[in-house]
Amino acid sequence: MICLYCLKNYNMEVTWTTIFKPGRKGLCSECCSNLEPIREETCEKCGREYDEQWFDNKHICTDCVAWENHPNYKEVKIKNTSIYKYNNFAKEFVAKWKYRGDYELIYAFSDEIKKTYKSKYKKVDYIITIPLSTERSYERGFNQSEAIAKIMDQKKTLKVLKKNETNKQSKKKKLERIHSENPFIMTGVKSTIDKKVLIVDDIYTTGTTMYQISKILYEAGASEISTFALFRG
Ligand SMILES: [Zn+2]
Ligand SMILES: [Zn+2]
Repeated sequence: MICLYCLKNYNMEVTWTTIFKPGRKGLCSECCSNLEPIREETCEKCGREYDEQWFDNKHICTDCVAWENHPNYKEVKIKNTSIYKYNNFAKEFVAKWKYRGDYELIYAFSDEIKKTYKSKYKKVDYIITIPLSTERSYERGFNQSEAIAKIMDQKKTLKVLKKNETNKQSKKKKLERIHSENPFIMTGVKSTIDKKVLIVDDIYTTGTTMYQISKILYEAGASEISTFALFRG
């Protein structure tokens, strides 16, 4: 097998699953060991692993406390799950798929994404994908959120959001981002009324995107909102 990330040849342990899934894509053990799975003790809201520097109390991290006090987002309740920490290896990984267009890399996480979906989100009605702005989709041509949704359950995938973006988010400072207006709008409100929805993304960093979209879905009458991001920054 060829490792999707470092392209080295490696021997995959033969199990029942691998026998029945020839052509399954994966990472070699060295690349796998560079990933840091988030351990069980996490922030109740954003899923960040417990670490003294981010926590004044054991349950909610300082970022989430700030969101709870934000006048525009007080009513938005976040319940996020992430699988891995956004460490340096994860950053290189993401840079490779985001900016160099090596989009196949996301499939290295298929099994883990499916496992999380089956154990936590089987009951959701819809998986909501996050749109890229036109400018960004032109640059990258690939939407990671859509790829994750499809790995989970293509039939439940719902594209009901549009993004109006004038300035590139990455160029703005964190505070500006939090205070900037919501760039997302819904194109199909009816479909999410009284529905359990899951918003999926590749990375959760400041939480801005998840809060903005959750707010829109909450206002559009979704009965339950949860979020998933592969990496928690
Ligand atoms: Zn490798
Ligand atoms: Zn938190």
